[in-house]
Amino acid sequence: MTDHIRPQPGIMEIALYQGGASHVAGVTDAVKLSSNENPFGPSEATKDAFRRAADKLHRYPSTDHAKLREAIGEAHGLDPARIICGVGSDEIIHFLCQAYAGPGDEVVFTEHGFLMYKISARAAGATPVSVRERDRTTDVDALLAACGPATKLVFIANPNNPTGTMIGLPEIERLADGLPDQAILVLDGAYAEYVEGYDGGAALATVRPNVFMTRTFSKIYGLGGLRIGWGYGPQAIIDVLNRIRGPFNLSNAQLEAAEAAVRDGDYVEKCREENARLRTWLAKSLAESGLPSDTSTANFILARFADEAEAAACDAFLQARGLIVRRVAGYGLPHCLRITIGDAAACRLVADAIRDFKGQT
Ligand SMILES: *Cc1c(COP(=O)(O)O)cnc(C)c1O
Repeated sequence: MTDHIRPQPGIMEIALYQGGASHVAGVTDAVKLSSNENPFGPSEATKDAFRRAADKLHRYPSTDHAKLREAIGEAHGLDPARIICGVGSDEIIHFLCQAYAGPGDEVVFTEHGFLMYKISARAAGATPVSVRERDRTTDVDALLAACGPATKLVFIANPNNPTGTMIGLPEIERLADGLPDQAILVLDGAYAEYVEGYDGGAALATVRPNVFMTRTFSKIYGLGGLRIGWGYGPQAIIDVLNRIRGPFNLSNAQLEAAEAAVRDGDYVEKCREENARLRTWLAKSLAESGLPSDTSTANFILARFADEAEAAACDAFLQARGLIVRRVAGYGLPHCLRITIGDAAACRLVADAIRDFKGQT
């Protein structure tokens, strides 16, 4: 009977991804700080480009994304031929797993790493391997020790989500140098723009045959709802990924909005500065209320509570005030809450609520 109809191995082991909540029962204007979205949204130039794309809805989009790749190349000083664009960086992660990992192969990532690595590894039939971190930070020695003849991909998000921590370029180079020959190091730079002067690993991916970088328009560019990401790396890897990419994977609206966004460097800089300023302020406020966090390099703070019960109680307390943050038990951090840096008003509301919560316990 239906026993004969079965999905590929690994697929039924995928736990469905839970997005950040956006509603609280009984609250009309909840403040959403659960998905690391840019509180200021996309730039005006980006919204204008999106609106203009309405006139081209009947036209098929570009299949080679040449204009967007050129704009990205210009903004980041990269060769457009070595760039691939996808439906969020999620799709690039998916392409990497589909192309390079299958049954019997291992996909390595860190203990508190992004859940998509595991989901995409399983979807490809490969075996996910989670490696412990040291004080919520990527541990290069532990990663190297976990690699072997079956390792095909090693993913690290730098800065990492949900910890907010990052490792420096010398450590990344040591990781790239120590990997087995058949393994690709993927540097997920979803939050790279939040770190002043950090190239997301682009320079390394330019010169090393085994380093690949993924980036997104979902975070600092404020385009999470539009779904655009990209990858950059060795030409040989790009050529492989393009074979499994759907020819029309991105719409005109996605391509044109992203092009306007990446050309608007002033807006990115403004968002980076505002985020850094508010992040410092919020971390200090939380610390003064007795709530510690690691120094974050991204657009969120991972607040650490005494235990899971206290984290859950604070989450409920915040929700009652219409503030939605993220529980991160699924990332192995049940005693923590991840709080996205909102605008100044949202940061103040969170700081006040946490002060009141800590004051009553
Ligand atoms: C948000 C995020 C992404 C971005 O995913 P998109 O599919 O581009 O929206 C990638 N990696 C990490 C670690 C993230 O937190």
